[in-house]
Parts: sequence; structure tokens; C-alpha cells
Amino acid sequence: MTQTVINPRIRGFICTAAHPAGCAANVRKQVELALKDGPGRGIGNALVVGSSAGFGLSSLLTLAFAHGAKCLGVAFERPAQGDRTASAGWYNLVEAHRLAKIHGRSIDTINGDAYTTAIKEQVIAALKASGVKLDYLVYSLASPKRTDPVTGITHASTLKPIGPSFTAKTVNLDDSSVGPITIAPATDADVANTVKVMGGEDWQLWIDALRAADLLAPGFRTVAYSYIGPQLTHAIYRAGTIGAAKDHLEATAKTLSNSLAAIGGHAWVSVNKALVSQASSAIPVVPLYIGLLYKAMKAKGTHEGTIEQILRLFRDHIGPGKQPALDANGRIRIDDFEMAADIQASVQAAWDKVDTANLAAISDFAGFRSEFRGLFGFELPGIDYTAPVEVDLALNA
Ligand code: NAD
Repeated sequence: MTQTVINPRIRGFICTAAHPAGCAANVRKQVELALKDGPGRGIGNALVVGSSAGFGLSSLLTLAFAHGAKCLGVAFERPAQGDRTASAGWYNLVEAHRLAKIHGRSIDTINGDAYTTAIKEQVIAALKASGVKLDYLVYSLASPKRTDPVTGITHASTLKPIGPSFTAKTVNLDDSSVGPITIAPATDADVANTVKVMGGEDWQLWIDALRAADLLAPGFRTVAYSYIGPQLTHAIYRAGTIGAAKDHLEATAKTLSNSLAAIGGHAWVSVNKALVSQASSAIPVVPLYIGLLYKAMKAKGTHEGTIEQILRLFRDHIGPGKQPALDANGRIRIDDFEMAADIQASVQAAWDKVDTANLAAISDFAGFRSEFRGLFGFELPGIDYTAPVEVDLALNA
């Protein structure tokens, strides 16, 4: 048992400490919304791959608390070691498990590398042991690397433009200064590696393995998450290496849907809104865009967090009995409020004039910063950060 006072340790988009009480508060807030929003039943069994943070955590909480699903999650999180805290995702899941027990819901977690065959086999064994077939699978991994289970080669994803180098404004997360950044173009290998990590290959492997084990129920539904965004971030996001991976993910949804038709199943990609997460904070230019976007969306009253987004996804599009509205490319669009013409016009106008001096006034970069700290359980109301807390918490207490 290790009681300690925990302070944030942040550099750029990396934070190496997490506060268990703050992470628990984040999860409680999401669970309250999910309990209020959903029917509390309707979805039998669900698997969430990438269940401990961001959109995946909100998917787990939506499925378990809004729709009463028996949930199994896969995440790759670090337990506490001595007085070193566990990762934020670990503490998120500790609280999710605790609240599931209190509210009569069911959440189990397998902690390990979802890209490996061993973890897929562990999930299959767990599902077989509990005698259930899956009605839903949410695929929400965001990772900097993946080892191909066939070749053993480890691929690293990159965030680079394809074609010419890209120069744009960005914000320095350490000193909040705004200045230009130039990002050199990707090589062909960068593109291929990013597609290997963040494309649809592993999603397909999950579905193939579960199907071969006869673990998909009739009418099975699966969804993975993508992003498009505006012209401002186009060169670094959608037309960049990560965009190539998202193209592959979206093509995989079509392949999967075709093959799942035999069991009355569907695979979709949902295009979600830009939000502060560990993954999105690492993308150059995007934090500045998010600061301006939050300002515009909060002013209009259309701002959503991951939980509001995913509750809406299930409520309006993919929950039991729902048929999603799709765009011309077959994608679900819950980025609709972000992409609204008036929001984008106001972001563009602010983008043209934003600099270090006016950043605080014309953007919600303060919102970005505090949400970023909030991801790790810091700067949340009602938490006494001067009090020592237990850092060594078991996932399944
Ligand atoms: P995140 O960093 O908040 O969460 C990533 C999750 O993946 C965590 O649960 C982590 O434990 C898990 N994970 C990472 N590597 C793993 C591995 N090897 N094995 C098992 N689990 C692993 O990320 P996020 O921003 O919520 O992104 C999730 C998905 O949503 C991504 O596909 C991302 O592109 C997409 N998306 C994000 C945004 C955004 O603005 N954040 C917008 C639209 C779409």
C-alpha cells in the first residue's frame, strides 16, 4: 500500500503521473450521464477494444450503463509500481469496475496488447468460458506502434503530410506560444507503417478470429472511429499519414460489412468530433484548432465530450433497432456539429488572426489545457490534491 501526494508531471503532450481520485471523478461524471440517457438494457454482449480512455472508455460506459450490456474491454495500461502512479486508463477502469458492481452492471477487462494473437486468444477463451456471443464490438485503438503478428516487425505510426512539407500555426503546449511549425513530408515507408498501425488490418483480424470461434451473434454490429476535420488541418490529418490509415479503416468497414451480411451483421465507421485525448494532443496544429473550435462550439451550445458523442451514436445510429444515417461514403457523421458551416467560418476567422498575445482571448486554449490535465485526473473540482492517496489500486478489487 502506497499513500502519496500526486502532482502532475507534464511535458508537451506527455503526462507521466495520474491521480486516481481525479480519474475516478471523470468516470463518475460519464456514468451519471450514461445512466440518465439510456434505457439500461437492450444490448446483450459487447467487446470494446481500447476501453480505458477517450472514445473507447465512453463506448464501454455507454454500453454498460446506458444499454446494460455485459462488457469485456481490452486496454493496454500500466499498474502502479512503488510510488509511481498507474496510468490514467488504469484508474479509469478501476472506477468503471467499481461502479459496475454498484449499479448491477458487468464490466471485465483484459489488460494487454490488443494487437497480439495472445490477447485475442485470451478474449476468445474468456468469451467461450462465459458462454456468450457478441452483439457489439467497438474498435477504438490509438497507438504509436504495432507489431505485426505474422512478420514480427514493429511498425511506428507518424503524423506527417503526404506530398510537400506543411507549414502552419501551432501552439507550444509547454509555454502556450503560437508560432509556425514546418513538418517534413512522409516517406512511402511512413505511410505504409502508419496504415499498419492505425488502419483496419487489426480490426479485421479481431473480427476474423471471433467469427472463426463462432462468437458473433446473429445481427452482430461493429464500429470503429475516424476523423476528417476541416481544411485547416487537412494536410496534417486527412491528407497525411494518419488520413491514409483512416482511408484504410473505412475501406475495411466495407469489406467487413460485406462478409458480415451472411449473419445479418454490419460494420461501420463513425466519424467523430475533434476532442482532447492523449492521442489527439500529440498531433501538431490540432491542439490550436481544438482551442478555437471549443470556443466556437461552447458559444453556440453545441460542444460535446466523448460521452455525449457516443451516447448520441448509440441513441441515433447504431443502438438496437436503429439504422444509421450515412454520408455519401457510407460513414456515420457525429462530427456534424463540428463541421457546421457557421462553426467552421468562425474558427477560420479566429485562426487567421490568432497569435501568442491574443490566444487566451480568442480561443479556449485554457479549456484545452485543463481538459488535457483532466485526462490524467488533475485540476478537477472537488478533489483535494494536497491529500495523500493510495496509488496502488487493483483493477478488480
Ligand atoms: P485515447 O488515446 O484516448 O485512447 C486509446 C485507447 O487505446 C486506450 O484505451 C488505450 O489503452 C488503448 N490502446 C492503445 N494501444 C493499445 C494496445 N496496443 N492494446 C490495447 N489497447 C491499446 O484515444 P482516442 O482519441 O479516444 O482515439 C480512439 C479512436 O478514436 C482512434 O481511432 C482515433 O483516431 C479516433 N478519433 C479520435 C478523435 C479525437 O479527436 N480524439 C476524433 C475522431 C476519431
